[in-house]
Amino acid sequence: MARIISIANQKGGVGKTTTAVNLGASLAASEQPTLIVDCDPQGNTTSSLGFPKDPARRTLYQALVLDEPIERITIDTQVGGLQLIPSDKNLVGATVELVSVERREYRLKEALQKVQDRYAYILIDCPPSLDLLTLNALAASNSVLVPIQCEYLALEGVSELIDTLMRLRRTINPALGIEGILLTMYDDRTTLSKQVAADLRSFFGAQVFESVIPRNVRLAEAPSHGMPIIFYDIHSKGAESYIQLAREVIANAQKRVGTGVERADTGTARGGLAAVAAAAGAAGGDDGGSSGSGSGNSGG
Ligand code: ATP
Ligand code: MG
Repeated sequence: MARIISIANQKGGVGKTTTAVNLGASLAASEQPTLIVDCDPQGNTTSSLGFPKDPARRTLYQALVLDEPIERITIDTQVGGLQLIPSDKNLVGATVELVSVERREYRLKEALQKVQDRYAYILIDCPPSLDLLTLNALAASNSVLVPIQCEYLALEGVSELIDTLMRLRRTINPALGIEGILLTMYDDRTTLSKQVAADLRSFFGAQVFESVIPRNVRLAEAPSHGMPIIFYDIHSKGAESYIQLAREVIANAQKRVGTGVERADTGTARGGLAAVAAAAGAAGGDDGGSSGSGSGNSGG
């Protein structure tokens, strides 16, 4: 049964799509059959995997709105073991057309249920908003992976996202956990990146992945060649970092099987979603300024 992970942050351009594509490819390369769901009408995941715009191609829209079986929309990618449910701008219409539909937040969950046993992982790339598409993604997921860019005001919007996650836990998905917070576009030559990373680790503790994604030009180039980084430049720092992340995700899943406990709920050492919420609240109250000025509690 696949573990379903939403990659979400309503802030734009933080590396959600880059993570969906490259974590997905790295998981598949580690012999974990993986499905990526492009849940963003921008369709960046679809194009990054080498599928140019094509009005004839069926997309997630058909599954969500027209009840088309998901396996008829799923396509193979160039990476063995990696499949894709594509998207395009028509998906914008889904949010409007589903408004009066009953159980509209559960459309994706219900669609994925039928194929969930074919994969080890299903990654859902969310749009930069907290709209009905993102709600569908989070309702369908076991956990959420939150990429945060290592820059000034990194925490902007994170407390809003965590609030939404808490609300979802009380309503449409009580089992939703935190897969992890991922530091992206890290630049070890700048003090700012180092400071932001240290702050995020002190706020979120063990919820932050040990793997860090560096700012790497090869990662930015790969989408225009329609390739995941492991095909475009396997020797780049970017490829290395996503392979490392895939290892960490797999290792966390194995630990979870060992303990039978969600990573988000494994006691005080790791903190739960509530601890993350408290941390995000504290961080939000800082107006993000601590990212630049240094909060003195993050020297470790
Ligand atoms: P949106 O909110 O619009 O969906 P996103 O969160 O999905 O954006 P991406 O599209 O993954 O963000 O990344 C934004 C831009 O930054 C892209 O041009 C991407 O190629 C580039 N980028 C992402 N990660 C890195 C990285 N680690 N190093 C260099 N460039 C990166
Ligand atoms: Mg994106």
